[in-house]
Amino acid sequence: MVLDPIKGFGLTFGTMFRKKATISYPESGVATAPRYHGRHVLNRHPDGLEKCVGCELCAWACPADAIYVEGGDNTDEKRFSPGERYGAVYQINYARCIFCGLCIEACPTRSLTMSNEYELASDSRADLIYTKEQLVAPLLPGMEAPPHAMRLGDSEQDYYVGAMNTPGASDGAQYPEVPDGAPARVQEPEVTGARQVSSQTDDTTREVS
Ligand code: SF4
Ligand code: SF4
Repeated sequence: MVLDPIKGFGLTFGTMFRKKATISYPESGVATAPRYHGRHVLNRHPDGLEKCVGCELCAWACPADAIYVEGGDNTDEKRFSPGERYGAVYQINYARCIFCGLCIEACPTRSLTMSNEYELASDSRADLIYTKEQLVAPLLPGMEAPPHAMRLGDSEQDYYVGAMNTPGASDGAQYPEVPDGAPARVQEPEVTGARQVSSQTDDTTREVS
């Protein structure tokens, strides 16, 4: 009983000299795990065409009914993806999404992946519905904004079979900009100019662009 205060203060003093576990968020960000499930990305092929074919499999796989897709028909004059169809309308409602990753598992073209971006909070429900324009990956050097003709081959197989054989390649998803002076909030990728996207990786590495 008499020693209890001493024990208590001892614990306090012992804790004072330990490494701090708290961080000054948002000034100091947190590096996520490499396979963290963050905001989605709709990836592109190396020539800029979209990988999404508007098949809606991601929407059907979603247990939270958070995805809305409308497919459209490509034409030779107006082509957004290789093959017949593309995702004309694509929305993810982050007021519903539980970041389970089932949608990216269902995607047959590896169009849909998830980034490490986790700052998605908003006080507006409408703002939490992300549109295709917000989700589609930015254009990297050498890419051309669709619509345009297929540059990598004559058939969609030239695009999609190649993408399946190289699951680590997912061109177009870059790291978000980090403001000057701010600490990096995500771990640096091993490939220059690429953004790590989780859960659709091969067994050995995280998926990078
Ligand atoms: S991560 Fe899960 S809840 Fe979110 S959109 Fe994909 S399937 Fe739906
Ligand atoms: S993201 Fe993938 S699963 Fe969803 S509509 Fe596009 S191609 Fe289909």
